[in-house]
Amino acid sequence: MSDARPPARPRADVELMPGYHSPQVTVEVRLNTNESPEPPPPAFLPHLASAMAHLRLNRYPDREASALREAIGLTHGVGPEQVWCGNGSNEVIQGLLLAYGGAGRSAVVFEPTYALHSHISRITDTDLVVGERDAGFLVAIDEADRLLAGGPSVTFLCSPNNPTARAESTDTIRHLLGTAPGLVVVDEAYGQFAEHSALELRSGAVPPGDADRLVVVRTFSKTWALAGLRLGYLVAAPEVVEAVARVTLPYHLDELKQLAGRLALGYEEEMRERVGRIVEARRRLIDSLVELPVDVWPSDANFVLFRPLERSGREVWGELLAQSVLVRDVSGWPRLEDCLRVTVGTPEECSRFLSALTLALA
Ligand SMILES: *Cc1c(COP(=O)(O)O)cnc(C)c1O
Repeated sequence: MSDARPPARPRADVELMPGYHSPQVTVEVRLNTNESPEPPPPAFLPHLASAMAHLRLNRYPDREASALREAIGLTHGVGPEQVWCGNGSNEVIQGLLLAYGGAGRSAVVFEPTYALHSHISRITDTDLVVGERDAGFLVAIDEADRLLAGGPSVTFLCSPNNPTARAESTDTIRHLLGTAPGLVVVDEAYGQFAEHSALELRSGAVPPGDADRLVVVRTFSKTWALAGLRLGYLVAAPEVVEAVARVTLPYHLDELKQLAGRLALGYEEEMRERVGRIVEARRRLIDSLVELPVDVWPSDANFVLFRPLERSGREVWGELLAQSVLVRDVSGWPRLEDCLRVTVGTPEECSRFLSALTLALA
């Protein structure tokens, strides 16, 4: 007897959705996902290990993650009621779109930009409105005004922008806060690598009504050297935190992570020093790249966008991989034909990359 019932199918739009494609292959020099090239400070893991001995894992974790949110808030001069945490900033963005996006609502992104903003919009059935960045890959005011007139519930700004590496000016962010009908979500995954942060606008620099639209999203994955921990957070008005909390599953942040995040914040000085070393390595990497037959864009982040002039980006990506150096191939993205993105690694990794690239371009 054959079963006449059709197979179970996902939502039609989910069937058509592209997944997240960043190959995880084993190489000697991994410069494709903008992680910290250095591990956390040597004292951190032993510190965490001894603190873990006192966890009571038979009990559910603190549902509100109060201590962690309080500790994060302190680093930004705000209370825990203005902080919400998630399993990576991607989960925080998902919470924002579950609460503020959804059917009949729209979100604005400015391409080329971080793919997860549009991906999570689709997952949450939020209409996507796509704007274009200007020639320098920044958001132009007239383009922003044109899209904001459509009444989006959420406007995404990635600053510094992944994969093009520049931070938006404070004037641009201030303008969007003054015009946007909904939330302005500034993804600052690379915030500490840049000279300024949208968080500075929270302290009286814009009218309170404008400041209440601002959501700054940050992560422990890059500057804090803790990509493996999966911890991110937002800083926003208490009403935004309450809304996102409502759509978050209970006990979503495990006790281990809440502890690790709190302890990590005790190493802020080390984080700033590490960021300083990476910014210095970035300067040297760009100085070397401009000597090669490639176009190079300026960077406010821990990665650099470049375009080989005489070879296709895809070919160069393959030749780097053959030398066990993995960078991100962004050549298939709109307006980034032949472009590659390289994470700033340790000085040794940067040298390996530069020698491999020199060979690949020869
Ligand atoms: C890497 C990155 C993140 C980090 O996401 P997590 O889920 O926190 O690891 C967020 N936003 C941008 C723009 C990124 O490049």
